[in-house]
Amino acid sequence: MKKFFYLLLVLLSSQLFIINGAFPQEQPEYCIVVHGGAGNFISSEFDTVTYWKYYNSIKEVLLLGDSLLSIGSKAIDVVEKCAIIFENNPLFNSGKGAVVNSKGEFELDASIMDGSNLKAGAVAGVKIVKNPIVLARMVMDSTSHVMLIGAGAEEFARLKRIEIVAPEYFETPEVMKRYNSAVKDKNGTIGVVVLDKYGNLAAATSTGGMMMKKYGRVGDSPIIGAGTYADNHFAAVSCTGHGEYFIRTLCAYNLVAAMKYANMNIEDAAENAIHQIANLGGTGGLIAVDKYGNVVFKFNTKSMFRGYKKSNSNPVIEF
Ligand code: ASP
Repeated sequence: MKKFFYLLLVLLSSQLFIINGAFPQEQPEYCIVVHGGAGNFISSEFDTVTYWKYYNSIKEVLLLGDSLLSIGSKAIDVVEKCAIIFENNPLFNSGKGAVVNSKGEFELDASIMDGSNLKAGAVAGVKIVKNPIVLARMVMDSTSHVMLIGAGAEEFARLKRIEIVAPEYFETPEVMKRYNSAVKDKNGTIGVVVLDKYGNLAAATSTGGMMMKKYGRVGDSPIIGAGTYADNHFAAVSCTGHGEYFIRTLCAYNLVAAMKYANMNIEDAAENAIHQIANLGGTGGLIAVDKYGNVVFKFNTKSMFRGYKKSNSNPVIEF
């Protein structure tokens, strides 16, 4: 009987070992992934100061996200807080660094989605809201709607005491120089996707849109399913690039749908989504994370500002 007991103990412990072996430490407890826009830039051509400015800006967001996630913050709160840091940074094409439309005005778009309940909020064409992502979150939390645009969105921002700025706040020297010169584009839409400790996924995207866009034009970034999507059962996704193509293929949801209906893994689903953009002649990229903390970056431009930080590894930053 004693022998049998020991045998059982040995068998059980070896079984535990196998289970541990089959699921090595790879799966992180939480994870944050960010992008700062895709485009045809080559980072080796950046001067040293510019290179490190981008590098450190991405790192700052990853470390903030990591520290919030480590103390148990929820994915939806982390994507919002991290997007705010990006929006306040003039390097990127969102918030403070937003690009101008063809009239020389700023029209900002943003969206956010909570994968735990499929709730979403978005704003488009706002001109005086310092942090459009905060307003998008407020639309999600405090209305029965998903998207508010233009003057209506701004009135709602005032009502909710969200920080309002003069349109001139967005006039950074860099963007105005580009507007008045031959260089008429700027990359730097931002996106954040997160897996938290509780298995929740969330996504946020914020942009000034495409430089010299037509007055009133809305791209993919504030459109749920096109530029942003999150579903706890599959993945959280944020896109960047030529928005019209991402709208036409519903890129962010396209990725999730491939996982959901075609049983693809996140890598194949992301490849498939970008392939469909490319097939139409579009360019851009995306970031995504699944419920296991698998991270993907895909783009068909020369580069994309990107990075991730998992609970069990150092930050990875590339562009
Ligand atoms: N997707 C954004 C838009 O079309 C722009 C970008 O990501 O660069 O508005």
